[in-house]
Amino acid sequence: MDFALSEEQAAIFDMARSFGAEEIAPHALGWEKTGTIPKELWPKLGALGFGGLYVSEASGGAGLTRLDATLVFEALSMACPSVAAFLSIHNMCARMLDAFGSDDLKARILAPAIPMETVLSYCLTEPGSGSDAAALKTRAARTNEGYSLTGTKAFISGGGYSDAYIVMARTGAEGPKGISALVVEDGAPGLSFGGLEDKMGWRAQPTRQVQFDGCAVPAANLLGDEGQGFKYAMMGLDGGRLNIAACSLGAAQSALDATLAYMGERKAFGKPIDQFQALQFRLADAEIELQAARTFLRQAAWKLDQGAPDATKFCAMAKKFVTEAGSRVADQCLQLHGGYGYLADYGIEKIVRDLRVHQILEGTNEIMRLIVARQMLEARG
Ligand SMILES: Cc1cc2nc3c(=O)[nH]c(=O)nc-3n(C[C@H](O)[C@H](O)[C@H](O)COP(=O)(O)OP(=O)(O)OC[C@H]3O[C@@H](n4cnc5c(N)ncnc54)[C@H](O)[C@@H]3O)c2cc1C
Repeated sequence: MDFALSEEQAAIFDMARSFGAEEIAPHALGWEKTGTIPKELWPKLGALGFGGLYVSEASGGAGLTRLDATLVFEALSMACPSVAAFLSIHNMCARMLDAFGSDDLKARILAPAIPMETVLSYCLTEPGSGSDAAALKTRAARTNEGYSLTGTKAFISGGGYSDAYIVMARTGAEGPKGISALVVEDGAPGLSFGGLEDKMGWRAQPTRQVQFDGCAVPAANLLGDEGQGFKYAMMGLDGGRLNIAACSLGAAQSALDATLAYMGERKAFGKPIDQFQALQFRLADAEIELQAARTFLRQAAWKLDQGAPDATKFCAMAKKFVTEAGSRVADQCLQLHGGYGYLADYGIEKIVRDLRVHQILEGTNEIMRLIVARQMLEARG
């Protein structure tokens, strides 16, 4: 058993970290004020191979492992978890296209998405169904040319911003087996968007409802086979959960690094606050939490790469554990900054706000426990 990163993995982490420090961190507070990430950023990430991290090399992607990808998300989140998480969603969609798309979809939709000339969004949640995603109501009715899509998707990251949407819609009966995945391109007739959601965190990336009113989707835009869409959507999520956990980890680490530096400079009662043993213990606890989170996350990613039978359980466990540890550490870092932690300029309150949603999306942390408990009961027999 070897817990060290290889030289190549360390280089991937360093490359992502430097890019984040130079191209993202200086703008992160500004982008959250304007509520959008400039589109010019994406091709720069694409040039590093980050637009198709685990898209196969045969399809033009970087062909990295899931473990390698978590390193990219951990490193980029040290600059801004909102930007890194958006990249994760794009990559989840790119992987779905690589795994299940026809040659035509790969040429038209995936090829420009890999260099990030275009960005992709994932549309599963609806106003009436989130955790119970298989109860979705958006319907794709067969037409001579393909499908007519009617319904509403809620909370869509990149809604009204992205170039194409992978939409899970009902083509058959109730339940997961009646769901198909369709690619809807921006500008499709009958596609519209709700207003910009005013959110606690992830404010740099736009979130909107995505609405379909008899939206015409050509038959060629069906991803894979009819009735398999829910399966494809869930397969994307195991890795998506690792990425979101990595985003919590990187951002919490950057909060802890900033706190360690701050505590050496800030004085109270005649000495630097890092000389109070009670506070040193809090630093130690934060370090222990993040190191444990990192080890657990990388083990889960390794399981997914190996195709281990318990990979889904480990991805769910890691997502819950790491996102909660990340938020706890970020909150402690805010406390250790005193009043300054509450001010935007110090960057800590943004991390606290950005990380909160990681306990809610890609499956809530209650659903993560449901997955774990179900597998425990199954194994017991
Ligand atoms: C900022 C943001 C961005 C998002 N981006 C996207 C996106 O790009 N694409 C997309 O498809 N979705 C996206 N989502 C949606 C997200 O995935 C859902 O919000 C999430 O799955 C939870 O669904 P819900 O909000 O409907 O909550 P609900 O499912 O209504 O859950 C409400 C509460 O009940 C709990 N609960 C529900 N069922 C159970 C159960 N069986 N046992 C125990 N507890 C249960 C939940 O854990 C939660 O605490 C985004 C959400 C946010 C906030």
